[in-house]
Amino acid sequence: MSTTTTTTINPKTASNLSFILNKPHDVAFVDRPKPTLQNEHDVLVAVNYTGICGSDVHYWQHGAIGHYVVKDPMVLGHESAGTVVEAGSAVTELKVGDRIALEPGYPCRHCEACLGGHYNLCPDMRFAATPPYDGTLTGFWTAPADFCYKLPDNVTLQEGALVEPLAVAVHIVRQAVVTPGQSVVVMGAGPVGLLCAAVAKAFGATTVVSVDIVESKLNFAKSFCSTHTYISQRVSAEENAANIRKLAGLGSGADVVIDASGAEPSIQTCLHTVRTGGTYVQGGMGRDNITFPIMALCLKEVTAKGSFRYGSGDYKLAVELIASGKVEVKKLISEVVAFKDAEDAFKKVKQGEVIKILIGGPNEKI
Ligand SMILES: [Zn+2]
Ligand SMILES: [Zn+2]
Repeated sequence: MSTTTTTTINPKTASNLSFILNKPHDVAFVDRPKPTLQNEHDVLVAVNYTGICGSDVHYWQHGAIGHYVVKDPMVLGHESAGTVVEAGSAVTELKVGDRIALEPGYPCRHCEACLGGHYNLCPDMRFAATPPYDGTLTGFWTAPADFCYKLPDNVTLQEGALVEPLAVAVHIVRQAVVTPGQSVVVMGAGPVGLLCAAVAKAFGATTVVSVDIVESKLNFAKSFCSTHTYISQRVSAEENAANIRKLAGLGSGADVVIDASGAEPSIQTCLHTVRTGGTYVQGGMGRDNITFPIMALCLKEVTAKGSFRYGSGDYKLAVELIASGKVEVKKLISEVVAFKDAEDAFKKVKQGEVIKILIGGPNEKI
């Protein structure tokens, strides 16, 4: 993995080439007009690196996620780190040259959800690469300064691009209220599942079990953070759950179960793996409706919660977890490619060849 420092980008001459989804399977590079500061609290950011997320790949393949449908050409990407190249007059916390992780969703700040401290639930959220809003696979990006998180000197811009999925995991594990000494089972060993396991461990969980159907992912999970791994078998959810409990010495069940897969059998297994009075958090997104073992939820008085994106303090904690070395996100970076190779990078993610692939910004030398 390269850790090259970024060359200074001159926003006046640099490219604003953007990677655009026209319709499913139809992408293009288009030089878009450079964005400008919308008000005195904004900063202009040169994008250095962007990670590809499952949602980006889903839009590329299907043009829609649930009721979010790509109707007009849309710039993809939302997991980015960049460098401040211009700061509005009211910006005090950031200056030109600062390296930042970019939180890519901007709430209205005025509604009940926002004022209640749950801005991730804002109905008027403007989220990058969620139609109709453009994403961050572009040269320059304008953001409110308070949604940009300065990276400490010991955190690279490439690691900065991993703050977004780590913040998703931080939010999920916070929803689960994981405390020291607990046992946590995470279904799914994709990037978010792996990061949930790592965050749970950082929060003090002493037993962290990763479950997946792909052995290579579990081998990685073991080297990354998990104390135990389990390959889901083609048996009933009850049987898989019994195997997990036995394998990890969980007795009557895990304190916390997290689904980071969205897959129906995994969700069912979650409810049979959690202990009486335990907590289940749904982080993965899959089908809208599934068969759900609701009697297990009821009889065990399981606390069930959803988790959506990230909210107050999650990005900040994610940056701290990286800076302190508690979550080694750089291990997740399989490859870094040049902007012109963006489509190839999407293909690699779709084929499951990589854990996390980063795309350099259009002004980044790779
Ligand atoms: Zn993402
Ligand atoms: Zn709002």
